[in-house]
Amino acid sequence: MPKHAVPKKKTAKSTSKKRYGAFKTGVLKKLSNKTNLVPCASCGQVKINHQVCKECGQYKGQQVIDMGKKVKKVTKIKA
Ligand SMILES: [Zn+2]
Repeated sequence: MPKHAVPKKKTAKSTSKKRYGAFKTGVLKKLSNKTNLVPCASCGQVKINHQVCKECGQYKGQQVIDMGKKVKKVTKIKA
């Protein structure tokens, strides 16, 4: 990459696309390295390591969250 500002019209589209493509892949690699995704032991869904599975509510073989419970979403605030 040039160390000084480059006029927009003189930079070819392919050059700028290559540059931004490399930037994008770099960012995605950094993100994927930070988050440690593992498959759940009981249901097989992808979950974050050392955290409760959101699909089945289990952690280390124990039921932590009651998934049968229906949680009401707050859509309106009564004044
Ligand atoms: Zn699970």
